[in-house]
Amino acid sequence: MKSVESTKSVAPETKKSTQDFLRQRLTHFGLTMIVMGICFPLYYLGLFGTVDGPLNPARLGTSLAEIGIAKIHILLLFISLLIIACTWNWIFNWASFLMGLRLTCIKKVNNERSVCGARVSRKKEVNKKTGRVVSQYICVCGHKKPEAHFHPVKKGAVSYSLLILSFLFCALIILS
Ligand SMILES: [Zn+2]
Repeated sequence: MKSVESTKSVAPETKKSTQDFLRQRLTHFGLTMIVMGICFPLYYLGLFGTVDGPLNPARLGTSLAEIGIAKIHILLLFISLLIIACTWNWIFNWASFLMGLRLTCIKKVNNERSVCGARVSRKKEVNKKTGRVVSQYICVCGHKKPEAHFHPVKKGAVSYSLLILSFLFCALIILS
């Protein structure tokens, strides 16, 4: 009786671990098949340079040259990408500031413990004393200040990845 009970309690666990093992092997096998499914055609098209196919690096250069794309064009493309990845947020921030967007109120509230932080709109006013045109920032609560806090957009992981990749491609093309 004791032996029967022990096999009963152990059996489901063994079954479960076998299932897990099989599932893991199947997933692994599936992934291998997918990778192979992608790599084999690329290999036979000559991307790795071992087989003389249409994607062979030497042939790829020739066919690109045939349709009028030179090394300098690809270099220019990656330099443009590099410049875009580097400057897009500066241009965006500059345009936002000129349009009076992404600005919040800096009026101190709660006994100077915090700032209002509400969105402000920019108005041009003529200073009565000096006669000069000055900017005034007015928030929804009615606060009026000569300055406002600007919230710039910062570069994210995608921007930095694109920057590094474009830089690497530029270097590769120049050095090759
Ligand atoms: Zn305010």
